[in-house]
Amino acid sequence: MSDYVIDPPAAVSLPVAGSEARFPVRRIFCVGRNYADHAREMGHDPDREPPFFFDKPADALIAGEAAIPFPPRTDQLEHEVELVAALGGGGRDVDPADALGLVWGYAIGNDLTRRDLQAEAKKLGRPWTMAKGFDGSAVCGPVHPVADVGHIAAGPITLHVNGILRQAGDMSQMIWSLPEVIAALSRFVELKPGDLIYTGTPAGVGRLVPGDVVEINIAGLGQLENRIA
Ligand code: MN
Repeated sequence: MSDYVIDPPAAVSLPVAGSEARFPVRRIFCVGRNYADHAREMGHDPDREPPFFFDKPADALIAGEAAIPFPPRTDQLEHEVELVAALGGGGRDVDPADALGLVWGYAIGNDLTRRDLQAEAKKLGRPWTMAKGFDGSAVCGPVHPVADVGHIAAGPITLHVNGILRQAGDMSQMIWSLPEVIAALSRFVELKPGDLIYTGTPAGVGRLVPGDVVEINIAGLGQLENRIA
């Protein structure tokens, strides 16, 4: 008999920029290969294959500038800088023209990946869960309300490791725009307030080792810095 206490679980949440409020997180969805140069570096043809999705558990979040624990079972932990959309509304079969109306705010994200486990899963036709959804795999900065920063569809997105530029792109290079991503995802699941959507990463993904300092900048959202513990 364990001593687990049955009680309402503590909600997973993110800080809201410029406020004491918290953004309660429901689910974490991620879109794969949404920048052509990254699709090419992973060995795929980026010619607008339909968007595809995977997810991470909500409690995989590393909120704000907390240290990132180096995960077990990998020799190839990699960074993926991404714009994150935080939903304040939901729905099924959302029309792209209405999709941005569901977005409550935006945040800086890092879709951490055990690339060696992902490569093995791809080769064997197995799920990506242990490659993408491990503890601490979803780094996310404070949520900036749309009311403060507006909608974000373009502008530089960069990631430095120990001061050296690794990833650089422009959010206008997304193969599927955020409204198209929301519309496509809402055809698979009913979206809900609190859902996060990681919108894909530009080229330059690479390895992280303990002690590295990861600095991410996204136009309109400032900077996020995390150290690999
Ligand atoms: Mn990603």
